[in-house]
Amino acid sequence: MIEHLERDGEYVAGAPAEPHTETNFPIVIIGAGFSGIGMGIQLKKAGIHSFTIFERAGEIGGTWRDNTYPGAACDVPSHAYSLSFEQNPNWSRRFSTSGEIQAYLLGIVDKWKLREHMEFGVEIDEARFDDHDGIWTLRRRDGQTVTARVVISAVGGLVDPKLPEIRGIDAFQGKRFHTARWDHDYALEGKRVAVIGTGASAVQVVPAIAPRVKDLTVFQRTPAWVVPKFDGEYTERTKGRFARFPLLLQLSRSFKYWMSEIFGPIVYLNAPRLSKRGERISTRHLHAQVKDPVLREKLTPSFQFGCKRMLISDDYWATFERDNVHLECTGIRTIEEAGIRTEDGELHEFDAIVFATGFELGLSNAPFPIHGRDGLSLTDAWKDGAAAYKGMTVSGFPNWFILMGPNTGPGHTSVLVFTEAQIRHAVGAIKKIKNEGLRYVNVRKDVQDGYNDRIQARMPYMVWGNCNSWYLNPDGSNHSLYPGPAFEYVASACNFEERDYECAAFEAPVEDRTATAA
Ligand code: NAP
Repeated sequence: MIEHLERDGEYVAGAPAEPHTETNFPIVIIGAGFSGIGMGIQLKKAGIHSFTIFERAGEIGGTWRDNTYPGAACDVPSHAYSLSFEQNPNWSRRFSTSGEIQAYLLGIVDKWKLREHMEFGVEIDEARFDDHDGIWTLRRRDGQTVTARVVISAVGGLVDPKLPEIRGIDAFQGKRFHTARWDHDYALEGKRVAVIGTGASAVQVVPAIAPRVKDLTVFQRTPAWVVPKFDGEYTERTKGRFARFPLLLQLSRSFKYWMSEIFGPIVYLNAPRLSKRGERISTRHLHAQVKDPVLREKLTPSFQFGCKRMLISDDYWATFERDNVHLECTGIRTIEEAGIRTEDGELHEFDAIVFATGFELGLSNAPFPIHGRDGLSLTDAWKDGAAAYKGMTVSGFPNWFILMGPNTGPGHTSVLVFTEAQIRHAVGAIKKIKNEGLRYVNVRKDVQDGYNDRIQARMPYMVWGNCNSWYLNPDGSNHSLYPGPAFEYVASACNFEERDYECAAFEAPVEDRTATAA
């Protein structure tokens, strides 16, 4: 399937012997998660088939392949958390489980015959651009190299599990795992289990495992604002209607999208009066779920609503009413052979520790060494924080498109809305390069800088600077979230605008180059 790729040694330096065609226009997509799959589908729809998707794992799915912990689900409604061009009338509930989302992805991969374009177990660990030829050379971890005219980086933003830096973490003699690396062979029944963390993963896993374990202790460093999810199953009748009347499905999707746009400012604006509205909804939810005022006090956050990710759950807080569930707010001093020792000197013994401690932030770092024009490294280009034009293209790194890049994460709606705009932009650029036989398109530095100045100028008006979270870099700057409504981003990002790019042709006519190569 990937014979069309010009591999190391076979590629003739200089240029293609003829204008870009299916056989000399290799495109590489790195990553077979939601964004890589969406990109593959849209390329096929555009009649472009010369692409390969490299996936370092053994299966597609990214987040939804990796996050299989009990209770794993999406906290964005299913009708909105799916691709607009692959809507699914059969979601079993309003908020799908991880398994159902993975099944959806497997289904569309088969439908679009994307597996023919995929290679698994291939990790790209370096990329280098050849300015003269307009070619990226990608090095695989197995030592092989691959060349591509266009690279789509679809590696995801929250992928690699982050373990906390707690002294003695390796000394623990019981079972330990991260939520994103759940060991399903380990039976929790009858076990004393600790969960460290109270973020989006924890609020799902805690209620799911509480009825199964003997004792569950949740180590909370910072309580979180939680709002009701209003989850529920779709009846067969409703699903049948969605299938028969696609307009209904579209309406449901649009309704969810616009509701999150309308109420989004509560979550992202630094507007205390709006934040108070969110805090009131959450506080009412807490009172409905927890009767003990002391426990309620411990579970009440002190930071402004929206500053950390708003959590959505119908059963997280209620779980602390169970006799076998304990909330531990004393800080962790060490992890020892038998369990966790808190700052007050007490040793809490456990059979297993679950780390719901989040992910290394991949949004704002180069995923591996990437060298653009004149050897410029992306790490250097991003030394003051990740910045890309509309989160997608970086000046000096031509023909390289990032999906889910810097400042494109939403705090209030489906990330896929952003991803789809990026896919459209990249497809527009690819068509331009291919149809006009260009060497490359490279975003203009002034355009990129102007865009990012405007993005960063908005940050003080956003709520995220008011507390610590993975949204922020260590210096407090925010290079992960988009400071505004999704519709604004989509309108500005979905089209490839030639005026924003330097469009470079090859230096000599095709015939001359062929003659030179010969
Ligand atoms: P997270 O939101 O980063 O939460 C990590 C938790 O671990 C926090 O409560 C943090 O406490 C705690 N923690 C970290 N180090 C600790 C330490 N040394 N001692 C005690 N506690 C410690 O991670 P996550 O829950 O995995 O979620 C990450 C992101 O993934 C989410 O924000 C979301 O974007 C995505 N996600 C989405 C869904 C979904 O349904 N769509 C579900 C899960 C995850 P502090 O708050 O004090 O730092």
